[in-house]
Amino acid sequence: MPSGKDVMAGRRNGGTSSGSTTKKNAFCSFCRKSYRDVGPLVEGPGDVYICGECIELCQSILDQEQRRRPASKKLFNEIPTPRDIVEHLDQYVIGQVPTKRTLAVAVHNHYKRLTSDWAGSDIEIEKSNILLVGPTGSGKTLMARTLAKMLNVPFAIGDATTLTEAGYVGEDVENLLLKLLHAADFDIEAAQRGILYIDELDKIGKTSQNVSITRDVSGEGVQQALLKMLEGTVANVPPQGGRKHPEQQYIQLDTTNILFICGGTFVGVEEIIRKRLGKKSLGFGPGASIREDGDVASLLAQVTSDDILQFGMIPELIGRLPVVTSLAPLDIAGLIKVLSEPKNALIKQYQALFGMENCELHFTESALKSIAQKAHIKSVGARGLRGIVEETMLDIMFELPDQQAGTVYTIDVNSADGKLTHFKSVPERKESA
Ligand code: ADP
Repeated sequence: MPSGKDVMAGRRNGGTSSGSTTKKNAFCSFCRKSYRDVGPLVEGPGDVYICGECIELCQSILDQEQRRRPASKKLFNEIPTPRDIVEHLDQYVIGQVPTKRTLAVAVHNHYKRLTSDWAGSDIEIEKSNILLVGPTGSGKTLMARTLAKMLNVPFAIGDATTLTEAGYVGEDVENLLLKLLHAADFDIEAAQRGILYIDELDKIGKTSQNVSITRDVSGEGVQQALLKMLEGTVANVPPQGGRKHPEQQYIQLDTTNILFICGGTFVGVEEIIRKRLGKKSLGFGPGASIREDGDVASLLAQVTSDDILQFGMIPELIGRLPVVTSLAPLDIAGLIKVLSEPKNALIKQYQALFGMENCELHFTESALKSIAQKAHIKSVGARGLRGIVEETMLDIMFELPDQQAGTVYTIDVNSADGKLTHFKSVPERKESA
């Protein structure tokens, strides 16, 4: 068989002087542009031509592929231990110690079962998809995202509330997989080992208050569709998204090795747990005894699959989420830590911005406490922090680029009215002689 080189040489010797075709009516077989538009074309056997632009494009595709390969191999050779995983999570996520440990073990085992160590073994290790139960802004998404980054696998976030059973207005479950494919740059092999975080799982429960008239009222159809995906199936993913229709070409994605992490607030689940444990509610009205963060946290820590079933989730779906773990609501001390301790804490981000202008930014302890208190009242966990800090910083950020280098800003609480305020100290100008 002649090699590519021989073919090129053959062309060169027979008819063309430079290895490219001289046929004026030839066009590139890849982009269909004509010789006149794109210049010289390289001729292959059987009236096939390629232009310079397409050759460059092909080269970049091959380069990209080559860069990707070693990364995927690396993952399978060095799977971090649960201890490594917890240590990594600790740099980004405040508190939630039991959840970190549970997640670390589940994730370690999940990727371990994909390695060659298990191949050929008679024992098949089933995958452990994970359900995270916890209030808004307690770090569910953050935890899943941080894990995926550490493992260097594609990661996508989907929202169960957008899903509907086929035939209703909304999205098919396969659209969640499309997000993962996007995150993997359409590298199917990588996507098949990725992590998909599905938020708001509680909202598709049968008893959910949040049902929409445009969706199957029970939410059961969606749960069935999700169940298949979680179990492991070859799904037909519509590359353009939206509803599937018969004429469309699909991308086939095997979900067997995708790690699904589902999250939900399951509002009121603490009451279900309390009843199961036989604890009495004190005070007046439902939940009167469990208003304190600490109480909610200790109840949530005891959540089981049975408690989740009471939310109208079908047992088969919950069965496919064997690892159930809860996140505690962040109290004021936790919120203060979120502001200042993680590697990319909000305060550190602002300080970096100030550094770029050769200025400094400090927050007093009372300022941090005041921000945390304001966020705590909003009951959206750490999600409330950003808005408050941004509001406090807006005017300062506006004037920052006009400031003299060395200016130091301090955010504090005004002792007169208790509001957040700031003062700045400008370095003394050296008198020039
Ligand atoms: P949810 O539990 O609703 O998924 P997220 O993980 O999206 O909450 O948290 C929202 C934001 O709040 C995150 O981007 C992160 O900055 C911050 N945050 C929440 N919980 C924590 C935590 N435990 N540690 C550090 N930051 C947190």
